[in-house]
Amino acid sequence: MKDFPQLENAAQDRAVQQLLHWSLANGLVLHPPNFKAYSTDAAPVTLFPTPFPRSSFDLAVRVQPVFNRLYAKIAASDKWLSSIVDQLTEFDQDFTGRLWRTYLQAKADGITQPLALGLVRSDYMLDQNTDQIKQIEYNVIAVSFAGLGPKVAHLHRYLNQSGAYDAHGGSEQYYDEGDIATSEATAKLAEGLARANDLYHGQSGSGSPTSTIVLFVVQENERNVFDQRHLEYTLLRNHGLKSRRATLAEVPAVTRTDPDTKQIFYSPTNDEISIVYYRTGYAPTDYKSDRDWETRLNLETTRAIKSPTLLSQISGSKKVQQLLTDKALVERILNDNVGSSPSSANEKVTSEEIDLLLQTFVNIYPLDDSPRGREAKQLAFSNPERYVLKPQREGGGNNIYKNDIPSFLKSIPELQWNAYILMDLINPPSHPNKIVRAGEVYHEQVLSELGIFGTIVWDTELGTVHSNTTADYLLRSKFSSSNEGGVAAGFGCVDSLYLY
Ligand code: ADP
Ligand code: MG
Repeated sequence: MKDFPQLENAAQDRAVQQLLHWSLANGLVLHPPNFKAYSTDAAPVTLFPTPFPRSSFDLAVRVQPVFNRLYAKIAASDKWLSSIVDQLTEFDQDFTGRLWRTYLQAKADGITQPLALGLVRSDYMLDQNTDQIKQIEYNVIAVSFAGLGPKVAHLHRYLNQSGAYDAHGGSEQYYDEGDIATSEATAKLAEGLARANDLYHGQSGSGSPTSTIVLFVVQENERNVFDQRHLEYTLLRNHGLKSRRATLAEVPAVTRTDPDTKQIFYSPTNDEISIVYYRTGYAPTDYKSDRDWETRLNLETTRAIKSPTLLSQISGSKKVQQLLTDKALVERILNDNVGSSPSSANEKVTSEEIDLLLQTFVNIYPLDDSPRGREAKQLAFSNPERYVLKPQREGGGNNIYKNDIPSFLKSIPELQWNAYILMDLINPPSHPNKIVRAGEVYHEQVLSELGIFGTIVWDTELGTVHSNTTADYLLRSKFSSSNEGGVAAGFGCVDSLYLY
């Protein structure tokens, strides 16, 4: 494994200048806070790629389709989820409970589209103690950075190729070509959308696949909008598939649903919508009013394929992740009949694959009155520095870390502890990379989190899988002094892999 390039001040200044120009020239950008429509900032990135063991990366890639299948199985029927619904919703009636009630209402009204699309990302850190990758979480809704992530590998390759990393004041390449792993995540997620769109046309047997459009349901004032735009441009360039954007509040005004066929159309252009793709809807604040919830309900009953469906979104909850640390349960879900039809032989997952998947789990405890829950309640007070406490939330900034855990738990009634899970902290190696944020260079130890993208299209009635792919990677890094790594939130930055 090579050390990081050691650059003299002047050489580093030149490298940073090149980095900023490349980022602005190639759309590796975010809107700044309180932005105008025309204002962009270079996205925070590392100056160098961060080393990561190739064997660990390969393993993460290998288990991705198994994770996709596991979560698709869970969301192929409400059988198992309804058996744990109290655990899921009792202490979070307002959000997870409301997602569940919205699903039940959609089911009562009639769900007309059996296919579901997953554009997902499984996140890991390398654990120093075991030298294995350990899963942080499996994300099923609004996964980000498939647009910007791949650009950082291209940026680092450009800097390397141009000689900006030459530590001897010349312009030689520092890394071998191929050391810096490229990612085709943008194209692969676009391919997932195109595949679902093709299947939509297969169902109706009419119209050309480019006669329908994808509806991106988005947040207002999204700062990370260019990440989404890159996916839209790739979808159009590679597949001729158009997309439109609307917030939940705008959807009723810009769509029309045929009451008989449940086909949904984008009214301004009268295009049929084949896929409703959510880049919002994962946090309570994404629903500004009851009307937004009603919109979510109405979209769920249309013919368009949803990414994700309500059941799929619920399957991505932290509570489900905690329950899945039980090997017997994972085996039962993967190999038994959880959907409404038996798994066909070619869908069987091998016991080796299941073991590889389980190897990526750390301990996750409930905080209830079960024996494991009681053990966890003690551990949270005796060794809080070993844990992170998580509520049923997505989107960053919600977790409670280490020594903050005891006082936090004491501040709420014990009954409410049930709403949280307690997870072993993963202890990744740190590296002396440099972070470039708003033109400033920060030289600190960084910790990295690997995300592997995936796409899956499955039939929620039959439980069958139409396509299931690994879709390359994202690497995010953050100062080792920070608990969380949100990029837009200002905690972290986008990085690329130097595989060794
Ligand atoms: P969210 O759904 O809000 O994204 P995550 O579970 O991904 O929540 O946690 C947010 C961040 O906190 C992660 O990106 C990671 O940096 C850190 N983190 C979460 N769980 C762990 C863990 N078990 N060990 C170490 N860091 C963690
Ligand atoms: Mg996360």
